[in-house]
Amino acid sequence: MFRSIQWKLVTMFLLLVVAVIIVVGTFLSKSIVNFYQKDFKAQMDSVFEHVDFEPDAVNAQQLEEKLKIYIGRLGIDSYRNYFILNGLGGVIASSNLEMADTLENSENIIAAINGRKGTEVRKDRPYMDYAVPIVKDGQTQYIIYIRDEKTELKEITAELFSIILQALLFGLVISVVLGFFLSSTITTPIASLTQRAEKLAMGQFDQEIKVKSDDEIGKLTASFNYMSSELKRTLDEIATEKNKIETILLHMTDGVMAFNTEGNVIHANPASKKMLGIEDIESLTFDELFKEINLEVSLEQLLYLENWKTLEKEINYNGRHLKAFFATSKIEKEKAGGVVVVLQDVTEQQKLDMARREFVANVSHELRTPLTTIKSYAETLLAGALEDPETAENFLRVINNESDRMTRLVKDLLILSKLDHKQTQWNKTHFNLKDLIEEVLQKLMLNARERGHELSFSPTGEIPEIFADRDRIEQVLKNILSNAIKYTPEGGKIVVYAGRINNEVYIKIKDNGIGIPKEDIPRIFERFYRVDKARSREQGGTGLGLAIAKEIITAHGGTISIDSEQDKGTEVVIRLPLEKKELNVNGT
Ligand code: ADP
Repeated sequence: MFRSIQWKLVTMFLLLVVAVIIVVGTFLSKSIVNFYQKDFKAQMDSVFEHVDFEPDAVNAQQLEEKLKIYIGRLGIDSYRNYFILNGLGGVIASSNLEMADTLENSENIIAAINGRKGTEVRKDRPYMDYAVPIVKDGQTQYIIYIRDEKTELKEITAELFSIILQALLFGLVISVVLGFFLSSTITTPIASLTQRAEKLAMGQFDQEIKVKSDDEIGKLTASFNYMSSELKRTLDEIATEKNKIETILLHMTDGVMAFNTEGNVIHANPASKKMLGIEDIESLTFDELFKEINLEVSLEQLLYLENWKTLEKEINYNGRHLKAFFATSKIEKEKAGGVVVVLQDVTEQQKLDMARREFVANVSHELRTPLTTIKSYAETLLAGALEDPETAENFLRVINNESDRMTRLVKDLLILSKLDHKQTQWNKTHFNLKDLIEEVLQKLMLNARERGHELSFSPTGEIPEIFADRDRIEQVLKNILSNAIKYTPEGGKIVVYAGRINNEVYIKIKDNGIGIPKEDIPRIFERFYRVDKARSREQGGTGLGLAIAKEIITAHGGTISIDSEQDKGTEVVIRLPLEKKELNVNGT
């Protein structure tokens, strides 16, 4: 408390008062002493310079008589006495005989003994005196000696001292009170500024301090208000920026991690955690993290050697293929503040690349086989087989079959390519699904009979009209049904079910053929995927039938699934959604 500005100001006031009173007091007491001494001398001079005592100096008594006349003017009283001394300083008469015994020869008396007036008043003596010689025939006969004991002066000085002391006390009290009030006009605004600064430090920006005066403190308050509003604005801006960046980092698909120069994680966004499959990336350091994912990269090298360029690395981790870009973030021009790592998941892209390459390889392979056959048969024919009409016919039939297969393959590929590039023109109409199924069955009946299959249709309930591309749906049904016929040993049983469940129609094609091994089922819809290549080819298959079926059904918003057990049979289920309109027409 005593270290506050208010107390410092009060102390200053007090010291000022003490100093002033000491100076004034000293000055006053000095002037009083001076005045008193001058007054004594003047009083003495006024008598002894104008009155001549010498003619009366016949004897001491006469001299005393004359002196008594001037008692009033000389101010003789109990503290100021007169003495009549002989030429050697011995007392002859006095207004105070008690003192006569103890009277010593002062300098003034000695001067008078020597015939001179002793008028010197000395401050360091406890008394003031004045000695006038009465000279006769060049000899000092008598000396009139006045001596003042300075008692009055002492009393006055003591009185003055007590007055000064009182004034000092009074002045001190006034200066404490005044100092306290006056200084509070300075310290109150400072205190409120301090309070406000503390609140500012705690993040409260809302209050403004009123500017009450136009002085330095008023200006300080105004600048303080301006500073706090600027600070608030800047902080708001920073917060908005931070929010923006955080939102971007939160929702972006690329992984972003930031490390400081010590290698600690400053930030890791959700995408990076997901890509690496590490939830608590924050608990790892740069080195630990990249050691865990088996990537050789050195933080020091990035920070101090190669901090001007970005480094690109590939990571295979957590079943994903990632691309990592390393870049240093800078705080100053040349000083690295940390490392930012951006992760890109290129797994899908790689899969696609692989699939594309595989597809090209498959197509080439599928085309090469019939081409090789055609070429070798043609060569054999040219080499002379033409001579034998029966062999020639056989060979030509094979060539014809193979070119048919190639045509089918190219046709299927074209269909797929169009579906892929969304170039297919969908010719959607409302048609009766039951009629379509019966039509397809009719078309494949001969084929089925040739193999001794029993082919039947079992509709359940009313099958509503659907809105779809009739030719494409027919193609799907043909693909699935011919698969059932192809992959069922002679004399099999193939049943087609169809019906409606809620707002869907379903078609189920069930056979009791060779079935598909469990492990092949998940890949059966892939292009060129076949369980038994030789058998498929022998049956004239291209390996694209199911892929095409799936594309067409998906494009109609439906689903196709396959369930199968080896040597028992296969069941393909197609579901197609009914449009709202159809739902209304059919009353549900
Ligand atoms: P493919 O032209 O070879 O028939 P698909 O795409 O139509 O090509 O069929 C892919 C593979 O799925 C076939 O090679 C066959 O191994 C298997 N498959 C399809 N349908 C059946 C079925 N009903 N029974 C057994 N296997 C089947």
